Amino acid sequence: MHVTFDHREVLAPNIVTFWFQPEDRIEYVPGQFTEMHLPHESADNRGQRRWFTLSSSPTEPLLGITTKFSPANGSSFKQQLFALQPRARLQLATPMGDFVLPKDPTLPLIFVAGGLGITPVRSMIKWLQDRQQTRTIHIIYAVSNANELAFLPLFKAQGLRLTTVLRHPPANYRGEVGRIHAERILQLIDRTRQPLIYLSGPESLTEELFKGLKAKGISGQQLITDYFPGYPAT
Ligand SMILES: Cc1cc2nc3c(=O)[nH]c(=O)nc-3n(C[C@H](O)[C@H](O)[C@H](O)COP(=O)(O)OP(=O)(O)OC[C@H]3O[C@@H](n4cnc5c(N)ncnc54)[C@H](O)[C@@H]3O)c2cc1C
Repeated sequence: MHVTFDHREVLAPNIVTFWFQPEDRIEYVPGQFTEMHLPHESADNRGQRRWFTLSSSPTEPLLGITTKFSPANGSSFKQQLFALQPRARLQLATPMGDFVLPKDPTLPLIFVAGGLGITPVRSMIKWLQDRQQTRTIHIIYAVSNANELAFLPLFKAQGLRLTTVLRHPPANYRGEVGRIHAERILQLIDRTRQPLIYLSGPESLTEELFKGLKAKGISGQQLITDYFPGYPAT
C-alpha cells in the first residue's frame, strides 16, 4: 500500500512520530506492525526496509510510526527517514501481527515496554480511549532517562496504572529505579487475577523477561511478546 508523508511530531529528543496519509483505506488492529520500504542511494548493509509498529490507532485518520534516531551511529535508512519531505510517497506492507488486545474486555492487562516497545501500547490505549472503553490496565514502562518517556499525557488521561522504571533517574523522581527484570515485574503486579502480560521492546530484553517470567511460574498462555531487533537492551 502507498502512503504519503504528512508531518512529524517530536515526542522527545530523537524520538519522533512520522504521520502518513494512506492512499486507500487501510484495515488494521491496534498493536499490529508493518514493513516500510524506503529506497535510497548508498544504503548501508542494514538495507532499505524496516519493520515498524503502527503507533497510531485505526480510529485516527493518519497512520503513525514512532521511532528513534541515533545521531552517532544511525543507519542510512533512519537518515533517509528523518530527512523525509512532506508529500514524499512510500510503501508500507499490509499490517499484521497478534500483539493485540484480547476480545474479552474483563481480562486484566499488564504491558511491560522497554524503550520504543511502547509503540503498540500507544496504539491500543489510544484505540480504547477513542472507543470510550475502559479495561484494567497496568503499564510498566522502562527507559534509561526520563526524557525518553513518550505518550505519558495519553496514558495519564486514560486513568490506568503507570509505573515508570528509569536507569538514570533525575532528582525528585518517585518511580522505580534500575533495570527491569522478571522478579521486579512480579513484585509490581497482581498475579492472582491471571493477567495477560504483554512484553515489547529490544529483542534481548523481551526474551530475557519472557524466560524469566516463565521460570517464575507464569504460563506461556499469559505471555504475549513483540520483539524489536536492532536496538540494544534498555
Ligand atoms: C515487529 C517489529 C516491530 C518494530 N517496531 C518498531 C517501532 O515501533 N519503532 C522502532 O523504532 N523500531 C521498531 N522495530 C525495530 C526496527 O525494525 C529497527 O530494527 C530499529 O528501529 C533499528 O533501526 P536501524 O537498524 O535503522 O538502526 P538505528 O535506529 O539507526 O540504530 C539503532 C542502534 O543500532 C546500533 N547499530 C549500529 N550499527 C549497527 C549495525 N551495523 N547493525 C546493527 N545495529 C547497529 C546502534 O547501537 C544504534 O544505537 C520493530 C521491529 C519489529 C520486528
